[in-house]
Amino acid sequence: MISDVINAKDLPKLDPVFGQLSFDDHEQIVFCNDKDTGLKAIIGIHNTVLGPALGGTRMWQYNNEWEALNDALRLSRGMTFKSAITGLNLGGGKAVIIGDAKTQKTPELMRKFGEFVHSLSGKYITAEDVGMTTDDMDTVREVTPYVTGISESKGGAGNPSPITAYGVFMGMKAAAKFKFGSDVLEDKNIHVQGIGHVGEALVEHLVNEGAKVTISDISQERLETVRSKYNVTIYGGNDVYSEEMDIYAPCALGATINDATINKIKAKIIAGAANNQLAEDKHGKMLQDRGIVYAPDFLINAGGIINVYAELENYGRQEIIRKTENIYNTTIEILERAKANGVTTNTAALNMAKERIEARKKENS
Ligand code: NAD
Repeated sequence: MISDVINAKDLPKLDPVFGQLSFDDHEQIVFCNDKDTGLKAIIGIHNTVLGPALGGTRMWQYNNEWEALNDALRLSRGMTFKSAITGLNLGGGKAVIIGDAKTQKTPELMRKFGEFVHSLSGKYITAEDVGMTTDDMDTVREVTPYVTGISESKGGAGNPSPITAYGVFMGMKAAAKFKFGSDVLEDKNIHVQGIGHVGEALVEHLVNEGAKVTISDISQERLETVRSKYNVTIYGGNDVYSEEMDIYAPCALGATINDATINKIKAKIIAGAANNQLAEDKHGKMLQDRGIVYAPDFLINAGGIINVYAELENYGRQEIIRKTENIYNTTIEILERAKANGVTTNTAALNMAKERIEARKKENS
């Protein structure tokens, strides 16, 4: 898993909480501290109009508390829109634990964190994110039912990555239908950047469909493994952005569409799993101006949240697949709306998510 934490030096000095750059009318922010276990955590609850705020817990060695707070704020906001656009009755939340997951994470610390989650009586439901494992969620489950992503043997829905990859595949096919008039990916040149849990599963779908796949990763070992398993080509150049290709699938870091890359990109479609692919909103507009179809990340990478939602709603595999396949229809709708309204695809997706929240607010009032 990868983090795309905002660097502290980029954060202007603002009021401590409500004045933060990433503050967006969040409903509640909870600071958790426990001296005995060393736990220092922040739970961001952005919006609970559609349902309890669900989002993973990230454990990361932040340079300072500002970075941690901004990460919690930004990530929890993102979850609100991801669930809203996917049609789930969930709000947006996210937690961060400050510390090194490799050296500072203990079962005691995780249980204490679980007690804080429990104290919110279900307003926030946690799950796995960077620095967390299914085992950690099982530990949290010992002290609270407000946790998802627990192991299958304990009644959980298991690893979300294959479902996330399937949703990305659906979103990519929809973007192809919109751009090329056909959603068949056979013979399309597709580059998958980052072949971790999601990237590898995506490669498998693409290869099965007959696409011409190239892969890149910072891990040589991963490259060799995926090449030998799927007979795909390892990218041999040194600037993947300038390469001619039909589809670019970012499945590693966020913010790869930025000032340095935007004018080089030759792909006709961008569709991948990474969170926060656009460094800034203006990059969405620049893609639109150049006729590059961008399938919004928070729309097409929602398979993971669909998978954990199944644990709460007790729906099975079939419904998980049905909801994930629906990403295809929603992507088409968003791309058409963006075109009709002359807005970026990201804005169209955000607007659709906000409309659903506003409609529910009216129903509830
Ligand atoms: P992962 O850690 O399993 O895989 C990421 C891969 O990217 C690794 O193989 C890593 O070596 C590679 N990588 C790192 N830096 C790179 C670089 N600069 N260039 C190329 N490759 C690089 O993570 P994952 O679970 O597969 O998630 C991938 C992305 O999708 C992340 O951004 C994650 O936030 C997002 N995402 C994942 C899920 C999920 O269900 N796992 C759900 C939604 C979004």
